[in-house]
Amino acid sequence: MINCIFCRIASGQAPAAAVLETPGVLAFLDIAPVHYGHTLVIPKEHYPTLLELPDDLWREMGMVSRRVAQALRTTLEAQGFNIGMNNFEAAGQAVPHAHLHVIPRYFQDGLHLFPQKSYRPGNLEKTAARLRQVLTGG
Ligand code: 5GP
Ligand code: ZN
Repeated sequence: MINCIFCRIASGQAPAAAVLETPGVLAFLDIAPVHYGHTLVIPKEHYPTLLELPDDLWREMGMVSRRVAQALRTTLEAQGFNIGMNNFEAAGQAVPHAHLHVIPRYFQDGLHLFPQKSYRPGNLEKTAARLRQVLTGG
């Protein structure tokens, strides 16, 4: 994809600070990090979201992400890490080339994840039943 910044990075047409490369996957530093070491893990081929991504590449991205996370802990003294993925614009995906964020975390970093709410009575069971229907047919 000629206009995709991550395709351009994967093919060497645009610069990036790479940290790890495997046959199908590239990991490089996010240009606007949550914390230093915030890394993006992408398939070298263009797939817009997780839903188009072949299983073997998804697995490879997971393995690369885990290696990066381990390195963040040993090298940058990360006390924890988040692995996140925004899929589709409604979820905050700005670059439509599938990618995982590996974000180092620290006890005192003051970041909060998503606010949570509670189910109205009966709605937890109803929601699970709808999902089960699609996922398992029962
Ligand atoms: P998204 O919101 O799509 O999940 O995240 C896209 C991420 O890509 C953002 O965190 C943004 O900082 C990063 N990003 C966007 N353009 C570039 C770029 O040209 N180089 C690098 N290294 N990161 C980028
Ligand atoms: Zn792309």
